[in-house]
Amino acid sequence: MSGKRGLVMGVANNRSIAWGIAKAAHAHGAKIALTYQGEPLRKRVEPLAAELDAAVVGHCDVTDPATIDAVFAETERQLGGLDFLVHAIAFSDKNELDGRYVDTTADNFSKTMLISCYSFTAVAQRAEKLMTDGGSMLTLTYYGAEKWMPHYNVMGVAKAALEASVRYLAADLGPKNIRVNAISAGPIKTLAASGIGDFRYILKWNELNAPLRRTVTIDEVGNTGMYLLSDLGRAVTGEVHHVDAGYHIVGMKNPDAPDL
Ligand code: NAD
Repeated sequence: MSGKRGLVMGVANNRSIAWGIAKAAHAHGAKIALTYQGEPLRKRVEPLAAELDAAVVGHCDVTDPATIDAVFAETERQLGGLDFLVHAIAFSDKNELDGRYVDTTADNFSKTMLISCYSFTAVAQRAEKLMTDGGSMLTLTYYGAEKWMPHYNVMGVAKAALEASVRYLAADLGPKNIRVNAISAGPIKTLAASGIGDFRYILKWNELNAPLRRTVTIDEVGNTGMYLLSDLGRAVTGEVHHVDAGYHIVGMKNPDAPDL
């Protein structure tokens, strides 16, 4: 990653998956820029950025296109261009990450799709212009896009659309040698995950039933991110890569696992 410049969007604190990826990119020699969402998170992100000698390129709320333009303009000013982009952003109303999907409101459906799916396309549009010598874009998804998961509801629908976006973006940007991939991470206790109903049960279930009999860490997601963001993965695009201790291959409860 030495000599590569990357914008990492979605660091909220030191438990964020985006932070795991930023740390790994820095450790491998990349120059990083970070965004934050709103003043309360600025206070958390600035000291983290200092740890990585990273630029802080401003506030970005993906529902406000002017703030997206502003952080890309600042990224261009500070880094001079981009070689990679990390999008680790998702949101849905907490009270709809519980109960039944069928009760989803139109308002929250639109909001969830805009923030958790369309925003990747919105940032890809801006990043394309800065990736003048090819590049790599990465987003974060979850197995709830592929299979029903309790309480994941509209977020599962948004992640399915996000995974389809990865394929369409990869086809559009491939001729410019810009690769587009997703990591489908296993459950990790983060701020966003704490909004999902019964999240502790989901964590425990994964630990007991995944082939590796454990959950995953932000550092493990970060390390896999290096394969997709660096030249090691230079022939890989349009891919959804699972980093979930193998949970996605499981078809049935582990008979040796205790009842929860
Ligand atoms: P997190 O809370 O640390 O990060 C979520 C980020 O989204 C925050 O930085 C927040 O500021 C940002 N965000 C939300 N709404 C935004 C908006 N309108 N504009 C700009 N930014 C906004 O949680 P995380 O778990 O690290 O989430 C990162 C990504 O990983 C998400 O896409 C999430 O769905 C995905 N993911 C998480 C898990 C998990 O179990 N934690 C598993 C698989 C995938």
